Amino acid sequence: MRRRDVLAGATAGAALLALGSRAQAQGVREAGPSFAPVKVGRERIVRSVVGLRPFRETGFRLERVKVGRLDVVHNYGHGGGGVSLSWGCAEMAADLARDTNRSDIAVLGAGVIGLTTALVLQRAGAQVTIYSEAFPPDTTSNIAAASWYPTTLYRRDKVGESFYGMLDHASQRAFRRFQHMANNPRYGVFWIRHHVLRSGPPSQVEHYPGGEEIFVGLRRNQTGHGPFGFAHWDAYYTLMIDPDIFLPALIDDFIAAGGKLVHQDFASVKDIERLKQRTIVNCTGLGARTLFDDPVLIPARGQLSMLLPQPEIDYGYATSIDGGSIYMFPRKSALVLGGSVGFDNWNTRVDDAEVTRMIDGHAIMAGRAAM
Ligand SMILES: Cc1cc2nc3c(=O)[nH]c(=O)nc-3n(C[C@H](O)[C@H](O)[C@H](O)COP(=O)(O)OP(=O)(O)OC[C@H]3O[C@@H](n4cnc5c(N)ncnc54)[C@H](O)[C@@H]3O)c2cc1C
Repeated sequence: MRRRDVLAGATAGAALLALGSRAQAQGVREAGPSFAPVKVGRERIVRSVVGLRPFRETGFRLERVKVGRLDVVHNYGHGGGGVSLSWGCAEMAADLARDTNRSDIAVLGAGVIGLTTALVLQRAGAQVTIYSEAFPPDTTSNIAAASWYPTTLYRRDKVGESFYGMLDHASQRAFRRFQHMANNPRYGVFWIRHHVLRSGPPSQVEHYPGGEEIFVGLRRNQTGHGPFGFAHWDAYYTLMIDPDIFLPALIDDFIAAGGKLVHQDFASVKDIERLKQRTIVNCTGLGARTLFDDPVLIPARGQLSMLLPQPEIDYGYATSIDGGSIYMFPRKSALVLGGSVGFDNWNTRVDDAEVTRMIDGHAIMAGRAAM
């Protein structure tokens, strides 16, 4: 049995209980069968949005390479887990960049990956300039749901132990950083209780990124009459990161520490070679496909509908209704409905049939809230 499949032992279990109590102390209710129903209806939709997750079946790319005279550190391709992994991959990318022994560093891209990488480098003493074609609120990172759980970022049959090692390391480092931010309202990070609901046993053992130990209060493979009447379920506490609050706060921190933002669209590596910096950290997300000729990088289209907020909703869920995935996460400013993944689908227009699927699916869930 592989390390990651082994259930947490008694010591870890005790630690989880302690962490669970800490989450509850911060105002999160115990994961369990008490759910205010989501008020579902088209009239409550604030907006629907589409984003293209930067997906690589072989997992995200985090490595340093030579490109002519440049040292390029790649940090892209985080699929549906870029917000979750951001701080962890940022720390790992910053280590690779620092090893070039240059203090003047260019970060390409101003999504969550570029901003966190720039901040980590800056805090380590580097002089950092972010060059990007778009800045928040106009990045894919602004569209993310964004709950803390790195998902939809690799294909099981395409990765090996070394990737899982990197994923676990990045997850652990990232989750720890986010926990500190949950104590500071200016970052828009807060705890929720989350439930993964199934009608039958899981078809395969899901790898919990970072290891089960980091999932606060985890109750895994529960059976019997569970939340919303489902017979098989997992529950744990996790963090919500509101990109509308989080990303501007990162930009403020970066500028306050003397960082520079430059609007620039790179058509090719030749454009990058014209920069004064020789150490480049590439955080261009899906843009890396053409910029660095990486055909493995494809979009995984996702569509979200935001409902009017309900302060009484302090839980999230992910499940499948009629064979289609759906999830709901609460923010202070909205309830986020989503779950669609369209591999190699470049269409950024809102699909009304998908809006209907969301409304219908979550209405079924609301009807089961009291079960
Ligand atoms: C519907 C949906 C739901 C999601 N939910 C979650 C979730 O719950 N949890 C989670 O962790 N993640 C989630 N994600 C995934 C997350 O949004 C991505 O993994 C993350 O945003 C990737 O960040 P990034 O910085 O690499 O890319 P981006 O945010 O796309 O940033 C890339 C930056 O590079 C710049 N750029 C690109 N090409 C060039 C170029 N040629 N020249 C100059 N600049 C360039 C862009 O302008 C942009 O600033 C979700 C995504 C979607 C679409």
